[in-house]
Amino acid sequence: MAGKNALVVLAHQERTSFSYAMKEAAVETLKKKGWTVTVSDLYAMKFSPLVSRDDITGSPRDPENFKYPAESMHAYKDGRLSKDIVEEQKKLHDADLVIFQFPMYWFGLPAILKGWFDRVLTSGFAYNQSEMFQNGPFKNKKAILSFSTGGLESMYSITGVSGDINVILWPIQRGILNFCGFQILEPQISYSIAHTPPEKRSLILQAWQARLAKVWEEKPISFVPNEDFDFSFAGGFVLKKEVVEKHKDHYGPSVGQHMGKPLPPDSQLKAGSTRL
Ligand code: FAD
Repeated sequence: MAGKNALVVLAHQERTSFSYAMKEAAVETLKKKGWTVTVSDLYAMKFSPLVSRDDITGSPRDPENFKYPAESMHAYKDGRLSKDIVEEQKKLHDADLVIFQFPMYWFGLPAILKGWFDRVLTSGFAYNQSEMFQNGPFKNKKAILSFSTGGLESMYSITGVSGDINVILWPIQRGILNFCGFQILEPQISYSIAHTPPEKRSLILQAWQARLAKVWEEKPISFVPNEDFDFSFAGGFVLKKEVVEKHKDHYGPSVGQHMGKPLPPDSQLKAGSTRL
């Protein structure tokens, strides 16, 4: 994979953690395969997750009525974003593959990683009104969520006490990553890792490395294409009537566009279309 760049974004405080071991395993394997690898170790960097006026250098356009989305977009275009954001945007710009390694916190991202998304994915850089989802600025990049949980896999099944993991993944995979255009590879989930025996943990690390050795060949998971929606403000960005009709007697086309029907099975976990 000479010439390809990977960025690993790690959100864990401790070097003795399983998350850190997964990061190390990824870096080692990708480098061995010829990738150039960059790491953003967010705690080590003391990365600020706080969206604030400090993200913009120089004078705001409208200090009396400061609106972060507009001000940060202009600052991006004028080269006036703060140094820490610019550095992360440069890493992201150069990356073909981005791996996000984190422990699940409260059914979602650790605050430091959520803040990285909030601050780094500036309007104009990561999305804009005319380029969203499959046409987003990052459409040629691939992303993987690699995370661990406290809970058992069965707890995140369709009858489990925590609820379907596909539902938990939807806001991150569709709402953040795919919105900006990323093709999303299957998530790497290390369930209940603290209660997994040490020898099994070693096998999980080995399986992760075996996967990463061929990661560029993987097919992304599917989302409903923009063409299936009335993709305009006038159209309200809703599924076209014929698409709704096609799904009348079956499950809805995605976790989000469920149409009040059963969700398509494992659409956020497995590549290959489950659409009709
Ligand atoms: P660690 O606990 O650091 O490691 C697990 C084990 O792996 C340890 O024994 C460690 O020594 C060992 N290990 C480290 N390196 C290696 C190696 N190289 N080889 C083999 N073994 C190794 N869980 C949920 O399911 N749902 C939630 O909503 C949720 N919310 C949370 C909110 C908060 C604020 C917190 C703090 C935790 C939450 N959790 C939740 C639990 C959390 O997801 C887990 O604690 C976390 O995923 C464990 O991952 P870790 O990297 O911290 O593992």
